[in-house]
Amino acid sequence: MQFSTRNVTVVGVGNVGIAGAYAMYLNNVCDELLLVDMNKARAEGEALDLMHGQGFTGRMKVRAADYSEIGECQVVVVTAGINQKPGQSRLELLEANAKVFRSIAEQLDQYAPDALVVVASNPVDVLTYMMQELSNRPNERIIGTGTMLDTTRLKTLLGDYYQVDPQSVHGYILGEHGDSEIAAWSTVSIGGKSILEPEVLGMPYDQAALEQLAVNVKNAAYKIIDGKGYTNLAIGVVIARLVDAIFSDSKTILPVSVRINGEYGMQQVALSIPARVGLRGVDQPLELPLSSEELKQLQTSGKTMRESLASVGF
Ligand code: NAD
Repeated sequence: MQFSTRNVTVVGVGNVGIAGAYAMYLNNVCDELLLVDMNKARAEGEALDLMHGQGFTGRMKVRAADYSEIGECQVVVVTAGINQKPGQSRLELLEANAKVFRSIAEQLDQYAPDALVVVASNPVDVLTYMMQELSNRPNERIIGTGTMLDTTRLKTLLGDYYQVDPQSVHGYILGEHGDSEIAAWSTVSIGGKSILEPEVLGMPYDQAALEQLAVNVKNAAYKIIDGKGYTNLAIGVVIARLVDAIFSDSKTILPVSVRINGEYGMQQVALSIPARVGLRGVDQPLELPLSSEELKQLQTSGKTMRESLASVGF
């Protein structure tokens, strides 16, 4: 199917969905935004609130919608999910989310079979893989936001540490978006200079300080949730950036959750490695020359993901 406009559907207009929609709206990433939620009144309220900024932001159609109306959408962002309840095990949460994803995949295949699907719901790597299994579209058209969030968090903290623009910091957090993620220091550079050099921008190499920054990245969500109950603003920026890369067919290399087919010695999982993103989805995952320790950690992260998937029958 040929799409003439940049239409996006957000499925699940809670904290994360609306932050993604708001970031796309402010950045003019799309022409039309459809908001789908099983709580239709919420979607309607959010759509009305969001659309009223057009006097200052320019024309963009924003409306609440049912699945049956999303056929013109080239990109569907899934941010629907059930958050962990007190006393609920991780496995129970996974089972509950698998059920939600089963129903969403069915609706998307029926009403938007040609759309590219971006998954942001957690656990994002497991749910990206599940969506790939449940949906009829090709795996490369289902992308998880993966460690884009963790990577921007790391760049932000390194920018502060080295007093440099975070956009001049390059490199990745790889693997799971979660506890087994890896700060792949061998990939990190500032303006082209490896962070592992004895001195960068007048700062001596300090392994303990860098490791602490990686721990802070890993624990960021817990700290934010302690403060405000959920995280949504930075993941909103991530969603807008990813959708922009898709619509502009920019072929940007981003650490997104993709299906692993033998890369880094892994199979049958989705997790974050750098991959080229454009209008057709993801292609060409990059196999980086990681250190042997980083590779081992990445494979351990993959094993954790595979066990989670197997625990819910995938
Ligand atoms: P939330 O409870 O505020 O919103 C979830 C929304 O999904 C609700 O409005 C609910 O009505 C809707 N929903 C549930 N099932 C649905 C279905 N079948 N169809 C349509 N809508 C449905 O939760 P939130 O804080 O917005 O978090 C959403 C998800 O995003 C969670 O899984 C959370 O863990 C995840 N998250 C991911 C990242 C990331 O980096 N990928 C960051 C933060 C949060």
